[in-house]
Amino acid sequence: MSCCMQCGCALTSDDIAIHRKLISREATVYMCKDCLAHYFSVDISKVDEKIAQFKRQGCLLFEQDSP
Ligand SMILES: [Zn+2]
Repeated sequence: MSCCMQCGCALTSDDIAIHRKLISREATVYMCKDCLAHYFSVDISKVDEKIAQFKRQGCLLFEQDSP
């Protein structure tokens, strides 16, 4: 289980995927959604929106909810 590099909370696969998408695909340490939102100075709902958007696009970094 990976932990957020900022706050140390447990990361979900979505957290890791959106970090790779927005920061760097080669990243080896990650931030959680809260810290990413803070990093970009946006509301966390914007990060959730981005995650949903990338999933809809079928981005392979994200685990798809349905097969
Ligand atoms: Zn965090």
